[in-house]
Amino acid sequence: MSVRTRFAPSPTGYLHVGGARTALFSWLYARKHGGSFILRIEDTDQERSTAESVNAILEGMTWLGLEYDEGPLYQTDRFARYDEVIQKLLEEGKAYYCYCSKDKLEIMRAKQMARKEKPRYDGCCRNGVDSPPEGVSPVVRFKTPKNGSVVIDDRVRGQVVFQNSELDDLVIARSDGTPTYNLTVVVDDLDMGLTHIIRGDDHLNNTPRQINIMKALGVVDIPSYAHVPMILGDDGKRLSKRHGAVGVMQYRDDGYLPEALLNYLVRLGWSHGDQEIFSLDELIELFDDKDINNSASTFNTSKLLWLNQHYIMNSAPEHIAHHLSWHMGQLGIDPSQGPSLVDVVLATRERSKTLVEMAQGSLFFYKDFEEFDVKAAKKNLKAAIQKPLMALRDQLEALELWKGEAIYNAVIETAKSFEIKMGKLAQPLRVAITGNSMSPPIDITAELIGKERVLKRIDFALKYIQNRMDKN
Ligand code: GLU
Repeated sequence: MSVRTRFAPSPTGYLHVGGARTALFSWLYARKHGGSFILRIEDTDQERSTAESVNAILEGMTWLGLEYDEGPLYQTDRFARYDEVIQKLLEEGKAYYCYCSKDKLEIMRAKQMARKEKPRYDGCCRNGVDSPPEGVSPVVRFKTPKNGSVVIDDRVRGQVVFQNSELDDLVIARSDGTPTYNLTVVVDDLDMGLTHIIRGDDHLNNTPRQINIMKALGVVDIPSYAHVPMILGDDGKRLSKRHGAVGVMQYRDDGYLPEALLNYLVRLGWSHGDQEIFSLDELIELFDDKDINNSASTFNTSKLLWLNQHYIMNSAPEHIAHHLSWHMGQLGIDPSQGPSLVDVVLATRERSKTLVEMAQGSLFFYKDFEEFDVKAAKKNLKAAIQKPLMALRDQLEALELWKGEAIYNAVIETAKSFEIKMGKLAQPLRVAITGNSMSPPIDITAELIGKERVLKRIDFALKYIQNRMDKN
């Protein structure tokens, strides 16, 4: 039987890191076994589901590269099918109409609590209602077996046993006829032929209910389950917005590479010895959901940053350039109006932990600045450097080949003729052409900025020095 897994988010917010990790595990499991990975959008809660959120989920999946073989399938397209299953359960006496009012259920609950019993539906309508109250639209409840148990051989948690006596008759259709979560999931998981279900352990309590419904529908091959523990923030509480970025696309905006986030997420709860860095191919080969840890894991931003830097340093520069291009666009830069992004990546990657840092530190390659960094200019653009800088400008202008080596030689020779150390000229040049005191090596920096811009900026710096001299 070929493996079929799914990711089934409810579109009520963005794709958060917990969801992305579940999606990744399911995707890896399918890829490892040559199976199929299906995306299902659980949008039956029409009040909370939004088209915006569906888009955010699809965008997140695409950015992470978690391509699905089928879908996105929308539950809202399947109401007729859910209704068919609800009718079948009713006809076969495996479900029943319940007319109990909200008030009645509340009183029932209060009494049970007073008796220190677990609050639950008492099965009042289970054996039929002699005269259904008029004008009341009933809900439909599933007849949970009274005896026996459901045994789940969870691939992460091991065996988990639920006694049916602990479960009450859950509502499978609301009074307006719409199906509830536990019903839609069962129908979909069956119709979509899913073999392996990997999901958050917040759903573990739903699993026995879902298995009971499956059995009532005559299913023999119940899917195999793996419930993944939650992710905690660094304060030990469940990861949430309070801990900063939790939406996947926020990580893109903050300058992370998708492969760094994937590598980070897979290690949150899964391990292979003490290996930290995994390519996707390696993951597909090594991943086994049985190796998922059964205790919660803690999110650690500095490790993610470390991984990001690793991928920035070690990925193909063309690949980094592709992602950097997006960030340059965010800063209003058109990268075609300057040096090749691949060259910029090679020049800047050693000093960039994120693509945001890289993009901000590369602005001067594409865009003239209006002001120098005050401190850098004060220290480096002084009267004493006016003449050497002028001479260097002429040397640079005379260069026929605008290449790092020639630029480097021009700086050395000019410094020598003024009897100053190379650094004493290179640093003012850096401030003159980048506006700041930090950049990649000066020869590469100048080469990439381009001759015309370099000369223009030196002129601008010379003007600045002159102004400063005039004021004194
Ligand atoms: N839609 C559910 C959620 O977003 C997941 C359902 C499932 O995986 O069974 O929490």
